[in-house]
Amino acid sequence: MHNVSAPPRTRGARTMNISKSSYMQLRQCRKLFWLARHRKAAGEADETSPRMEQGRRVEELARDLFPAGVAVNHEQAFSGVMADSNNALRDATSDRPIFQAVVHAEGLLAEVDILMPRKKGVFDIYEVKSSTEVKDEHLHDVAFQRHVCIAAGLDVRKCFVVHVDSGYVRNGDVDPEKLFKIVDVTPLVVPLAAEVEANIRAADRIVAAKTPPDIDIGPHCSDPQPCPFADECWGHVHKEPKNIFTLSRLGQKAWPLYRGGVIRSADIPVSFKLSDKQRLQLRAEKTGRPHFGAAEIASFLARLERPLHYLDFETFQTAIPIFEASSPWQQIPFQFSVHVKAAAGSKPRHHSWVWDGDGDPRQILLEKLEPVLSSAGSIVVYNQGFELGVLSKCCDAFPESRKWFDAVRPRFVDLLEPFRSFAAYHPDQHGSASIKSVLPAWVGKDYDGMEISDGSMASDEFTRVMFGDVPDAERRRVVAALEEYCGQDTEGMIWIVDALDRRIRK
Ligand code: SF4
Repeated sequence: MHNVSAPPRTRGARTMNISKSSYMQLRQCRKLFWLARHRKAAGEADETSPRMEQGRRVEELARDLFPAGVAVNHEQAFSGVMADSNNALRDATSDRPIFQAVVHAEGLLAEVDILMPRKKGVFDIYEVKSSTEVKDEHLHDVAFQRHVCIAAGLDVRKCFVVHVDSGYVRNGDVDPEKLFKIVDVTPLVVPLAAEVEANIRAADRIVAAKTPPDIDIGPHCSDPQPCPFADECWGHVHKEPKNIFTLSRLGQKAWPLYRGGVIRSADIPVSFKLSDKQRLQLRAEKTGRPHFGAAEIASFLARLERPLHYLDFETFQTAIPIFEASSPWQQIPFQFSVHVKAAAGSKPRHHSWVWDGDGDPRQILLEKLEPVLSSAGSIVVYNQGFELGVLSKCCDAFPESRKWFDAVRPRFVDLLEPFRSFAAYHPDQHGSASIKSVLPAWVGKDYDGMEISDGSMASDEFTRVMFGDVPDAERRRVVAALEEYCGQDTEGMIWIVDALDRRIRK
């Protein structure tokens, strides 16, 4: 076995270290790898992001599956981390796991979540993920770790991915044995060895170059992760607001067009096969005039019964369920906004609630929503699949509300419908039927300048102030911003319905 406590070897001219995350960048796109090396700040992952925090919690809990483990202390200088890792590997005894050891060889660095010694010098690798399945990117991540371990002289027997099971339902304390699934990925990882070697061989040459590799944009820009340098590479596309990537549901079919030199939607050859909706979008963009299917919109509006209840809620998710009868990554509502409009022209009444951290928000939401939604009148939402799905899940945990939910369910009306079906399409929607595109296009109001301007920001901010150590004043400020944001979503729906109604009456 190679002496892991020896100073790291370097092969050839390599003067840099390649970590697991930079290897993943290298694999995704060599230009991304170059840019991350030469313009560090933009390419670095935000270690404080809620997603990273979820990952840390999952990784910590997964250690309960491997009792009597030795954890390498990362709260110290890197030299100390290396020394502790080397000591742990040198002293490894059979079936005594090592957590977060940093293995270093040939300028490569791998921080391995769990290394399980099977006999002297022989280890199994366990990679812990907060996702609910094994993804292709995980296999490449593990293949890199395996490569580094072997280069450091360890004998790697098997490789595993440990991930959360979406079917797990919390019942009492979280049970790691039931929450996690352990998948043997050895047969999928071993064949990737040649690819890892080829990528690593190319790394020095790429970094040494004075300019980035000449790589054009492609599906790799968002696969497996959105590239942090997209603004730099996508400028020529974004300067054309009506470009092929904004054509509704064109998806991967945009790439052959792009490679053929087409960027503007208006330049798509007539022979290219498009759906009726895509043709309608193109026509609206070419003429600059919105499409308005008066009969379809009139029939949609006729379904609305007063009093109208405009409803929206915000949710947060955690990998490890924090409430009874909830599952990993379940959408947990923490806020709602309801605007009730009794008659045309009347001033809407606003009801707003944000969970204060006490009790189970799902139960409180159900209790508070029931009187606000009353017993008659339409409940207008934007994307009812989401709202109904979240409420139905709440009723799984609190079945006493199921009867109420079954009674209100037929009153839901989805305002997304006329826009998703292209009954109404405005060229300024740029192919999107989201309320964030529809509201500015049809009403002229947007979310610019708002402290919280989309759902994921709402969720991130809520979890930051509710579960993090922040002063009360900061918490109150964020709650006020959340109320303003969610309130705009429901008031925005009133404005949209009024705009459609006005147009019908023209
Ligand atoms: S935006 Fe695309 S092409 Fe540019 S560096 Fe990122 S992945 Fe590579």
